[in-house]
Amino acid sequence: MTHQQQSSQIRKEISRSYQHLKEKYPILKHQDFWGLLIFLVSLLLVGINSYLWWTGIWPAWAMILVNAFFFGILHELEHDLIHWMYFKAHKAVHHTMLFLIWILRPLTINPWIRRQLHYHHHKYSGTLHDVEERGVTNGEKWSVKRFLLTADLVIGGLFRVRSLFKDIKQEVKNGNLKPDLSHKLRQYSLTGLIPVTIIAHLLVYLLLSSLLLDLFNTSFNTGLQLPVFLTTILEYCRPVIYIILIPNILRQFCLHFITSNLHYIGDVEQGNVIEQTQVLNVWWTFPLQVFCFFFGWTHAIHHFVVNETFYVRHLARKKAHEVLRQYGIRFNDLGTFSRANRFKEQP
Ligand SMILES: [Zn+2]
Ligand SMILES: [Zn+2]
Repeated sequence: MTHQQQSSQIRKEISRSYQHLKEKYPILKHQDFWGLLIFLVSLLLVGINSYLWWTGIWPAWAMILVNAFFFGILHELEHDLIHWMYFKAHKAVHHTMLFLIWILRPLTINPWIRRQLHYHHHKYSGTLHDVEERGVTNGEKWSVKRFLLTADLVIGGLFRVRSLFKDIKQEVKNGNLKPDLSHKLRQYSLTGLIPVTIIAHLLVYLLLSSLLLDLFNTSFNTGLQLPVFLTTILEYCRPVIYIILIPNILRQFCLHFITSNLHYIGDVEQGNVIEQTQVLNVWWTFPLQVFCFFFGWTHAIHHFVVNETFYVRHLARKKAHEVLRQYGIRFNDLGTFSRANRFKEQP
């Protein structure tokens, strides 16, 4: 069997299981309704949770964990929206949802630009010009640097951009990538950050500087202070920092850690879905999965059957895992950590 035949067989069997599930529970067919309901309930619970912290009823750490969980769900909704799963016929609702979900996760890139990078990811997953995955540390050797920069798209991005652009140029030379597409990819990877992602990251850096300075002062009592205008900004932005940014740092770290280790990169045959991903659901990843809505459990399934909502994918995952196992898709290949996420050998 060729990999195309295997993939088409996997696709057929998983799609059939989705069909069965929807025949059993016809209510699942109302996709727009479910998308909107999940969106509104998440927003409401984030609001209540944040209010309870603001009024002193709820400790900050609990509020941060709960918000990070719901932002993880909103991330799944954004991914579904990117694939036009909700309100395709009602563009205003569709784009409003996309916008609000972005603003609640401002450390991520512009979703309309991400849509282009994500489609590219599906088409060229695991190649050296899979910008979406390269942008979240996939393919780098594991080190303290990779760990610290896992969640960071701005300073982390600056560290990654040179080798990414070099590889993109090389891919054009090798005839694997068209020059105009290479130009677009480079453009998207920079414009996607402007201005929301950069502003949100600058606030995080300011918060980190202030924390480090406090730590330094308690150890050495130097009396060093941040300039007044910066402490004013920090004070003014305190609700945003606690309610939105800190939960998103946690969520983004968890998602980037899981996604960059479940996708293979660098030596994946173009278009070979069998080699693109693994299922990553080993027990110790559980605390990380909680904040990216168990991405590692189901993303491999999504590579085969793209046009399905995240909740149906989760509900039908048992059968899908059976199918993936049967066709030799890897489960918990931890060797990926020592191979810099190559499918076969260390680079
Ligand atoms: Zn993927
Ligand atoms: Zn996708």
